[in-house]
Amino acid sequence: MTQIQAKSIKKLKSTRIIGHVSSKETGPTVVYFAGIHGNEPSGVEALDQVFKQLKASELQVTGSVFGIKGNLPALLEKKRFLEHDLNRIWTRSGIDKIEQKSKPERSVEENELSELHQLISDIFATHAPPYYFIDFHTTSSPTLPFITINDALINREFARLFPVPIILGIEEYLEGPLLNYINEKGYVSLGFESGQHFTEEAVKNSVSFIWLAMIYCGVLTKEQVPDYKKYHDQLNLAAKGNNIFYEIIHRRRITESDDFKMLPGFRSFEKLEKGITMANHNGEQITAYKDTIVFMPLYQAQGEEGFFLIRKIPGWILSFSAFLRKIKFDSFLALLPGVSWSNGTRDKLMVNLKVAMFFNKPFFHLLGYRNRMVDETHLILNNRERTAKNEMYKDAFWFNK
Ligand SMILES: [Zn+2]
Repeated sequence: MTQIQAKSIKKLKSTRIIGHVSSKETGPTVVYFAGIHGNEPSGVEALDQVFKQLKASELQVTGSVFGIKGNLPALLEKKRFLEHDLNRIWTRSGIDKIEQKSKPERSVEENELSELHQLISDIFATHAPPYYFIDFHTTSSPTLPFITINDALINREFARLFPVPIILGIEEYLEGPLLNYINEKGYVSLGFESGQHFTEEAVKNSVSFIWLAMIYCGVLTKEQVPDYKKYHDQLNLAAKGNNIFYEIIHRRRITESDDFKMLPGFRSFEKLEKGITMANHNGEQITAYKDTIVFMPLYQAQGEEGFFLIRKIPGWILSFSAFLRKIKFDSFLALLPGVSWSNGTRDKLMVNLKVAMFFNKPFFHLLGYRNRMVDETHLILNNRERTAKNEMYKDAFWFNK
């Protein structure tokens, strides 16, 4: 890859950049983020280990790999964040506002965002496609390792290479995660939650994930990584053979002033029977409203989601929705009364609420629409499929033509 490195890449090498290797040949470019939440250092530790191994082994990569630390001040204090959640401020308008402020005007996390934003722009400017972004996290409760993605087919196809469960649709519930910003640019990006905070298992799972991802992105070959099978087995075992697709059906939203307490003992992916008491929220007992599966129950003080509920997505729905998207079935939607494209690029649909009543949410999900923003009379639906840069990945072995 090009020898010219942008200023921010050079400058940050010792602090924010955990590791960086490049070859003379162009692309792919893999960017790993870790520690976007300061109380989740497992990814940082894992990247550190892998880059040391990479350097010691003198393995020749094809393309480039970056390991980047997220929230530096919060990592030092082992806190999720200091002023704002760094994984909730990556909205287009939010970024513009932050970039207009001078450094002293910015909050701790706004400053972190600004540095990361510059770094990402420099990577795009100096390193070749296809681009892959992977963001490492851990959870406050015990969990199987799992992947979260925005629901574009390129993300699904790439994510299913890993032997862990995959969660679709979190983007409808979270405002401003880093990966949303990357996804809106159309690149493959996935979040990997490797286990519970500060556990050895979470580091091990992250190490395995980093190696597998380098192989699946085409930066290394399987032959170059003799422990390939060991890494694959590690994740498969940790995930207990679960590589099912799930979607989020419910979020318990909490605010800073709320009194929320999850009852002890819940684990992500645990099946719950209807009626079981899960939490106390402002003096009210919260029970499961149906037989369901709990996801990311909150066992820490900081966070805006008390818990989620999820359900399995049947295989035929995954195939059917892939088919509908490939034939661009949604082109016909704009012919319906009350439905129109909200911009020229056909990635946002404006739907009159009176009409929307006749369609349910899963119908729009099938076609790749998520993230509804409601004004008084209309919904705006974003389509991940229309923004996805499929062309960039068409030569990848995993790309489903
Ligand atoms: Zn996190």
